[in-house]
This record gives sequence, C-alpha cells and structure tokens, in this order.
Amino acid sequence: MLVMSNSSPERVPVASRPGSPGAGPALTAPRMSSPHGRRGWTANLFTAVVALGFGVTLGLSLTPVTRSSLAAPGGLETAAGQIAGLTGSYLLLVMLLLIARLPWLESLLGQDRLVRWHRRLGPWPIILLGSHAVLITVGYAAQASVGPWHEFDILLTSYPDVLMATVAFGLLVMAGVASFRAARSRMRYETWWVVHLYTYLAIALAFSHQLADGVSFVGHPLARLFWVVIWASTAGVVLVYRVGLPLWRTVYHRLRVVEVREEGPGIVSVICAGRHLERLPVAGGQFLQWRFLRSEMWWQAHPYSISAMPRPPFLRVTVKALGDFSESVATIPVGTRVAIEGPYGAVTAHSRGGDKVLLVAAGVGVTPMRAILEDLPAEVDVVVLLRAPRRENLIFHHEIAPLVQGRGGRLHVLVGSRHQVRLDSRLLAKLVPDLNKRDVYVCGPEGFTNRIVSAARRLGASPDRIHSESFAF
Ligand SMILES: Cc1cc2nc3c(=O)[nH]c(=O)nc-3n(C[C@H](O)[C@H](O)[C@H](O)COP(=O)(O)OP(=O)(O)OC[C@H]3O[C@@H](n4cnc5c(N)ncnc54)[C@H](O)[C@@H]3O)c2cc1C
Repeated sequence: MLVMSNSSPERVPVASRPGSPGAGPALTAPRMSSPHGRRGWTANLFTAVVALGFGVTLGLSLTPVTRSSLAAPGGLETAAGQIAGLTGSYLLLVMLLLIARLPWLESLLGQDRLVRWHRRLGPWPIILLGSHAVLITVGYAAQASVGPWHEFDILLTSYPDVLMATVAFGLLVMAGVASFRAARSRMRYETWWVVHLYTYLAIALAFSHQLADGVSFVGHPLARLFWVVIWASTAGVVLVYRVGLPLWRTVYHRLRVVEVREEGPGIVSVICAGRHLERLPVAGGQFLQWRFLRSEMWWQAHPYSISAMPRPPFLRVTVKALGDFSESVATIPVGTRVAIEGPYGAVTAHSRGGDKVLLVAAGVGVTPMRAILEDLPAEVDVVVLLRAPRRENLIFHHEIAPLVQGRGGRLHVLVGSRHQVRLDSRLLAKLVPDLNKRDVYVCGPEGFTNRIVSAARRLGASPDRIHSESFAF
C-alpha cells in the first residue's frame, strides 16, 4: 500500500512537451454565475411548464366528453381512450425534450439526470398509448355493436393513418423492450441506439392520425394549433440541437487528430488540433460526443470528458480501452478528422457552492477532475484525492501534482488494492477533516463513486454540494 500526501511530480509535465495541449496557455471557462440556486429554479420552472402543458392536454382530451356521450354504449371506454391517447403522446413529447440536448437545461441539470428522468418516464407513454388503442377499439365496437376484432379491422382499413399509428406503436414497444435493464445489458450499446432511433420514426408516423382522427382536434382549429405548435417546436429543438449545432461546431472547429499518446496500461490521450477553440464554450468537467471519421468508426459517437482545458489550437481527451470502440482509439492515425457534439455536463467548477473543494478520482475518472482542477479560480482551496490499484494506473499524477502545488492545495495519493486501502468514511475524515465544509467532486467506477458519495454524506457534506456524473448511461 502506498499513501502519499502533497507528492511531487515524477515525470516531465505534459505542458513542456511539444505539440501537446500544454503548448499554449490553458483557457479557463468564462465565469458563470453559480448555478446552485439556478439549478433548483430551472428544475422547478421546467416541471411547472411541463405540468401546465399536461393540464392543457388533459383539458383538450376532456372537451368532447359530455354526460350523454359517457352514458352512450362504449362512451366511458372511448373517453378513457381519448385521455390515454393524448396524455401518452404528450409524455412522449416530454421524453423527447429531456434528451433534446438543450444547452441551458444540460448545463444546469446534467445529461445523466435528464437521461434518468427520460428513463423513468419511459414506460408511461407505452402503457397509455397501448391502453388508448384497446379502449378506443372496445368503445367504438360497443357503439357500432360489433366485435372488437371486427372494429380493429375497420379502424385499420377505414380510418385515416391508423395503420401507420399501429406500426408506430409497434416500434415504440420495440424501443421500450430494448430499454429494459435485462434486455439492454445483453445488447451492444450500438444496437440499442439504432433501435432507439426508430422512436423518432414512430413519433412521425403517429402524428398525422392524431390530427385526422382525434375528436379533440377535428373541427377545433385552436386545439389543432396548440398541438401542431408544441410538436413542431419540439421537432425544431431536436433538429437544431441534436443535428444542426453539432454539424456547425464540427465544421467551424475542424478538429483533426495530431497525436495519440499512451498514458498508462490501456489508456491513451487523443490530442486534436482545431480552429477557434477559444470559442468552444467548454468548462472543465464537461464532455463531448466524439466521432472519429475513419471507415470503421465514423458511425459511432462516444462520450469522453476533456482531460485538460483547451489550449488553442489543442484539445485533449483521454480514453480507457473497455470495448471495441475505445480499444481502437489507440490506433487512430494522425490526421483523422473528428466530429463533435456538445459540450455537455453539469459537473463543472461552476457548480460548486463555496470556495473549498475536494476532488476525488479513481481510474480514468481522473480525466474530468484534471480539467476541473485547472478551471477552478486561484482563490479556491483545493484538496485532491487520487486512487489507483497500482502505481502504473495512476495517470496524470505528473500533471496534477504541480497544479495542486502551484495553488497551495493538498494532494493525497492512495495506491493499493481495495483490501489494502479502504477509502471509507474513516480514512476520508482523517485525510480531509473539513470535508463537510467542502464541495465534493467524485468521478470513478460506479461502485467507487457511490461509496464516496455515501461516505461524504455520512461525514456531513451537504447533498447539493456533492457533484458526480456517471460514466455510464
Ligand atoms: C458523460 C460520460 C463521460 C465519459 N468520459 C470518459 C472519459 O473521459 N474517458 C473514458 O475512458 N471513458 C469515458 N466515458 C466512458 C466511455 O464513453 C465508454 O467507456 C465508451 O463509450 C465505451 O465504448 P466501447 O465501445 O469501447 O465499449 P463497450 O463495451 O461497447 O461499452 C462499454 C459500456 O460503455 C457504455 N457505452 C458504450 N458506448 C457508449 C456511448 N456511445 N455512449 C454512452 N455510453 C456508452 C455502455 O454502457 C457499455 O456498457 C464517459 C462516459 C460518459 C457517459
């Protein structure tokens, strides 16, 4: 076991190597007002707007419902089917917005939190839209005094766009099944992603039947207008932020790989050079989706955090070989063009609530911590805790040590197996006695991050001053 404190660098700092991101001065992200209060405020505003939209949608679905329509044969089922259909479609729209990569929402709430909300909401549209199909069929069948299968046949063949909507529902169910934890863990990420893309097709296919057949819309121009506006705006937001902005940033910054450098066992840094990087609004701790434009890789984008603040014209990410994509990163030839999407992520120097900070990192989780350290204003009192099973896994120690020393902070390095070094609340309290007065940033394997977060809570750190972003969606 090795425990070092305020350890000095052993290797030549990367800043002095030619062609490295250290060639010029590091940019720091423009100082933003602390999003601490703004985060809660934004979450509340977002929830309020979503709830208002839900209320209007519910109101729309109830407009055709009268006492006599409910009393008629199949009236109750038809009314329930209308409500289920419109509210299910509305929730689908909210799910789209949550993953539309709206920059202000992403930077305040964080992509992992938005994805978590998206996932939690996921089953509801499918349940509601499935109920819609069953209830409308049963309700209409009772009205027409025919059997439900016969009515289903009539709906498919005689009602405008119902066949398309049925195909759309099948696609939604497929995406939903693929998202179950059990199914997803057996599936390659890329397969899951392609299945998920069909959701967009499903939404497009289902839209026209809502306007053509929905009793809330037929002959109600204001209701139609509301529905068209909310769907068209969502489609616009998705197109602008998921397609337009990434394309623009890729063309504008024109990144190319200039060096691939080994940092440790199975870990390489990819250094890219590009134009106008001073205009890329990235903060330490944020990540981008990287697409390396070579024949076997161009079709996959993977998230990697910047491992140093940009030093125009250079930008660096550091990648651990885990699967097929990350393994092939080590073989990317110099000159390869790079497409980027982002930056994303809310765990940055700006999310802190005070001027005392603890950064805890294990394994490749050190990459965002390294960039946050560089991005923190000079007056911030910093303690850094690095954890690795073996000496050779301790990447960026030679960069972090001088950065910590330069600002008069404290660095603790813990090397050894989990049995040798148990980084629990006792050791944390010993190394960082004032932990409860600090913002705690954590990044590492999921189990490690969860343990540190729980230990920090036990030691009295305020939950809104604990910042961690998962490396897995
Ligand atoms: C916000 C964020 C920041 C990250 N930053 C870094 C970093 O700085 N350095 C680093 O080494 N790793 C980072 N990762 C992890 C990295 O993205 C994955 O290790 C990588 O995508 C694995 O891909 P693969 O094909 O090599 O492995 P696979 O074996 O295909 O996947 C391994 C696991 O990675 C996840 N994964 C795979 N592809 C993607 C994808 N396109 N998007 C999201 N998750 C995916 C899946 O959950 C999968 O179970 C980050 C992940 C996230 C979510």
